[in-house]
Amino acid sequence: MTPAASAAVHEGFRRIHGGDPDGVWAAPGRVNLIGEHTDYNDGFALPMALPQAAVLAVRRRTDGLLRLHSAQGDGLTTELRVADLAPGRTAGWTRYPAGVVWALRERGLPVGGADLHLDSSVPTGAGLSSSAALECAVAVAYDELYGLGLSGPELARVAQHAENAYAGVPCGVMDQMASVCCTGGHALHLDSRSLEVRQVPLDLTGHGLRLLVLDTRVRHDLADGAYAALRAGCERAAGLLGLPALRDLPGAELPAALVRLPADLVPLVRHVVTENARVERAVERLAAGVPEALGPLLTEGHASLRDDYRVSCAETDLAVEAAVAAGALGARMTGGGFGGSVIALVPAGEAAAVGRAVTDAFAAAGFGAPAVLEAVPSAGARRIA
Ligand code: ADP
Ligand code: MG
Repeated sequence: MTPAASAAVHEGFRRIHGGDPDGVWAAPGRVNLIGEHTDYNDGFALPMALPQAAVLAVRRRTDGLLRLHSAQGDGLTTELRVADLAPGRTAGWTRYPAGVVWALRERGLPVGGADLHLDSSVPTGAGLSSSAALECAVAVAYDELYGLGLSGPELARVAQHAENAYAGVPCGVMDQMASVCCTGGHALHLDSRSLEVRQVPLDLTGHGLRLLVLDTRVRHDLADGAYAALRAGCERAAGLLGLPALRDLPGAELPAALVRLPADLVPLVRHVVTENARVERAVERLAAGVPEALGPLLTEGHASLRDDYRVSCAETDLAVEAAVAAGALGARMTGGGFGGSVIALVPAGEAAAVGRAVTDAFAAAGFGAPAVLEAVPSAGARRIA
């Protein structure tokens, strides 16, 4: 996060709220290298934080009011009374920050009001977790301003609870854990059950590699029923197998388990179990110092999301195909699916050609132009001013 970004948010705060903020905090968006739709199955994932972040200037208030403004919003400042916050009472984007304050109070923590000004460089609805970035920025700012002393995983749980119970999105915990716990130069090996994390060194440049993010600009809406239905299907399958969660089904027992399940649940279970295994293989390949060997795992993971989990779409499939055809070592959709972004691991010298090839393929298919970004493993949520 550049000093310029922090100064701009500080200045925005002065314009909107008058006076200076108590501080400025930043929480990043993320891409997930591998381990998709595993978090709500208590499984494993391997996200990394992006340089793009939600930057939030905050000043504590003593009158119990929460005043919210976003540079990406409608220009209005929303004023809420902290004591009145309740799920279902807040609409639009403000339900994410208001939900975090509500979730902190639900834990019995003594938090009150604040003036907030948000300016985020994470594109919204692109599968890069702008929602978790926003929640986690509020969570870390409140943690410090109200002296809460919560750990990273506790802050992530608060943010997830806000998204689930207040914003009404049944997401797992990966996005929030990534936004809080990632560190620069590393991917984060996450155990979604214990919330244990391991920082896995990820030196792409040193190996002549780059990770491109191809934002299809097809906007998903996780609040719609598809994500909830998939999650319910996984929980039903675990129940039928007598397991606490699909995480508890070892790969070796998959074939025997699949014959015991109704046909509609078979592909869901196959995806989750093979995807957890791909996370472990990815970590082994990184530990062995061969990040280029992640490529085939990415493409395999995409096929599983497309054919078994069925959360891909024409645009994400085309981005993967075009990237691989143009020289990417592997590619997959990242995030919940139904649009959003694709990541492609590319030799540095091929990056421009891969970006061009995907853009050309979209034009030829009559799709809108994708946005091409680069994912550089960046720092997690923190105070920046
Ligand atoms: P994703 O997390 O993949 O970007 P979501 O649908 O989960 O997609 O979250 C996007 C929502 O988060 C937006 O519709 C908006 O309500 C909220 N949001 C994220 N960033 C901002 C921002 N800078 N200003 C206002 N709202 C934001
Ligand atoms: Mg989100």
